[in-house]
Amino acid sequence: MKVFIAGLSTETNSFSPLPTGLKSFEEGKIHRGTATADPIEFWTSPLHIWKKNSLANNWDVVESLSAHAQPAGLTIRSVYETFRDEILEDLRNAGSVDIILLSLHGAMIADGYDDCEGDLINRCRELCPNAVIGGLLDPHCHLTELMMQAADLLMPYKEYPHVDIPERAEDLFRLAKETALGNITPVMRDFDCRMILALPTPSGPMREFVDSMIAREGKDGILSLSIAHGFPWGDHERTGTRALAICDGNADQAQKIATELGTQLYEMRHQLLAENITIDQALDLAEAEVAGPVVLADMSDNAGGGAPSDSTFLLEAILGRGMTSVAIGVFWDPGTVRICQEAGVGAKLAVRLGGKCGPMSGKPLDLMVTVRACMLNAQQMFGTLPTPMGEAVWLECEGVDIVVNTVRTQTFHPQAFEQLGINLSERKYICVKSSNHYQAGFNPIAKKVIPIATPGAITPDFANIPYQNRQPDYWPKVEDPFA
Ligand SMILES: [Zn+2]
Repeated sequence: MKVFIAGLSTETNSFSPLPTGLKSFEEGKIHRGTATADPIEFWTSPLHIWKKNSLANNWDVVESLSAHAQPAGLTIRSVYETFRDEILEDLRNAGSVDIILLSLHGAMIADGYDDCEGDLINRCRELCPNAVIGGLLDPHCHLTELMMQAADLLMPYKEYPHVDIPERAEDLFRLAKETALGNITPVMRDFDCRMILALPTPSGPMREFVDSMIAREGKDGILSLSIAHGFPWGDHERTGTRALAICDGNADQAQKIATELGTQLYEMRHQLLAENITIDQALDLAEAEVAGPVVLADMSDNAGGGAPSDSTFLLEAILGRGMTSVAIGVFWDPGTVRICQEAGVGAKLAVRLGGKCGPMSGKPLDLMVTVRACMLNAQQMFGTLPTPMGEAVWLECEGVDIVVNTVRTQTFHPQAFEQLGINLSERKYICVKSSNHYQAGFNPIAKKVIPIATPGAITPDFANIPYQNRQPDYWPKVEDPFA
């Protein structure tokens, strides 16, 4: 057997002010056939797993491109085309290939390509009509018809926070192997739930839903079940939630189960739609708590959803109230990092922080800060995998500890603060720029967690996202989209 592996991903936020170009991919790291020679990271973990498994089977492995960018706006056309063509060229040069495994996102939109993953998978299919093609997807994908037609196996992660990437990469390898050996014939069918919302899985009804979904896999011909949550801020005609079932050779069964799952999820929609809490309401709730840490999530400035990560709305409100014992981050502001590094640890200086990427970032704040720490090569864990933060500084301003960095990322883990010397157990309030992934790292240390519907690039007001391509026939935009 010969296995071909590659990775190309970003999540396109159609409303983000930041273009996704070569620099964004360079920051996320580009490997040309060498990702598995470097230590395992969040974005390269599937390739590591697929290569290890292939070698364990004594199969040949051809490793191609691995290029991943932090979510932002539209991908530059030439950047997508160049990466795609590199993968296709490697595939052509690989000769006869039995299995193609691609680590993708599923919501990548480039100038001229509203479905990059469908385009890539389909071109792989044209080159290798008989190969088994498996695509690992982020559940915040658009799950297009072209992807469904061109791939044999599509596997969105099941957890949000996405802490199960290694498990899903293993599942995809196993099913692709069984398919290539002729032991199974995967058939995929999906069901459109006609709804757009966030579906966090750590607790509540989604936890039970995912657990019962996983419990059905591996018997009665059911190979894989998953939910494509959809990416609400990607303006695509398929934006929204879909249930996906893969069964062994039985299309009717796959359709029946996808419909069952999707209908069940749709019926849970009112329970699943979180209440939108404003900054003032959230700070009132937080101040009413006797003990901390209270974790406050700035949901709309989440770099992981394409937001700039430099918005100041929450910090401005905190400073306005004179709150102290606060740790807040991570602000993406490379200019401020540079200025503070130059001044050095212990320096007190005036900085203009954040608010630089546009109206969705609020206004820049002029602050007198003390530089408490500077760090090169900062990083934080997400689940079991490390992810880079670039250069970082800890600034202190009137009892508020602020982390600022150079590689745009959401706040995944307490390490984002603690590696700089900030002791979070001594802070009453911890503010993170993240919609939901922070829960994996911060729930264990939080006395209380308050997600805030802050203003910003990915505000969770699902009924009012200004789509141009997505028709308004979805819940909660309309009460009954099936009418
Ligand atoms: Zn996601």
